[in-house]
Amino acid sequence: MIISMKPHATKEQIEHVCDRIKEFGYQAHPIFGAERTVIGAVGDGRARDYIQALESAPGVESVIPIQRPFKLVGRELKKEKSVLQIDEITVGGDQFVLMAGPCSVESREQILITARAVKKAGAVMLRGGAFKPRTSPYDFQGLEEEGLKLMAEARQETGLKIVTEIISSDELDVVAHYADVLQIGARNMQNFALLKAVGRTRKPVLLKRGMMSTIKELLMSAEYILSQGNPNVMLCERGIRTFETYTRNTLDISAVPLLNELSHLPVIVDPSHGTGIRSLIRPVSKAALAAGADGLIIEVHPNPEDAFSDGPQSLLPEEFQALVQELQGYLALEKRHL
Ligand code: PEP
Ligand code: MN
Repeated sequence: MIISMKPHATKEQIEHVCDRIKEFGYQAHPIFGAERTVIGAVGDGRARDYIQALESAPGVESVIPIQRPFKLVGRELKKEKSVLQIDEITVGGDQFVLMAGPCSVESREQILITARAVKKAGAVMLRGGAFKPRTSPYDFQGLEEEGLKLMAEARQETGLKIVTEIISSDELDVVAHYADVLQIGARNMQNFALLKAVGRTRKPVLLKRGMMSTIKELLMSAEYILSQGNPNVMLCERGIRTFETYTRNTLDISAVPLLNELSHLPVIVDPSHGTGIRSLIRPVSKAALAAGADGLIIEVHPNPEDAFSDGPQSLLPEEFQALVQELQGYLALEKRHL
């Protein structure tokens, strides 16, 4: 339910409504807008009538139900786009955020060389997996905490923020200690225990769409995180499985404007996993920008041939740089910047 307060409702009136909502066993999520405060009352439906009756509480203008199943991530409750602040970086505003780096952290040299190169090209975040969710248990599983330490060293040197995957809530403390952004991978998009665990932190989360998940399921997964109290979520389109076999996944470009219609959360596109093919990264990145993405996450490796994972879709540092230069022209057209 959305409780819209009158423009001049007092702090006490807002608090009173929040308290009543909680008494009914619902969660109260006030959103303080420039003109008025709206309060999201989220629960299982049982106290619907009681909440509806808050229409007569002092300072309340209207009470209307939220139609869609995703309550906190939807535009019904929050009309303005969410802008996430990660120190000096803003995601969801005019800044177009570039996250780049290897699929896996492999060595000190590899991550430092890559970090320097992507920073020089214009990236603001360094990606790199230290805990890797691999299809085969015999494939490289990641350097784990050692990999996180190397990422932290790269951050120290370059100032890049770190985005890295968390594959289990067992590692929440260690990953959250080093990371600036917690990545939930496609394979874990519906790991509800993990979603709840990251929801209990305030760390920014990059939530990737599952490879066989619908837009609604992605938004419901984001809802898990917000409902635990963490509003700092970015949605990531990374391609879905279709009958097509030329590409690794089929990047759903329409997901970008659709997510922007349905949700206020920032939308990031991953053209690397979305295509699986190096030569497609550049055109698809431009398409993502044009479609309304707030940023890109791109795999870059100094020597893709020897990469421990995802070499065929990794750009060379100079290819990444050329891509960024090309994007600059398009960004200027849209009055956006890196
Ligand atoms: C990755 O970012 O390297 C990764 C494993 O991505 P996804 O979860 O989208 O497959
Ligand atoms: Mn990868």
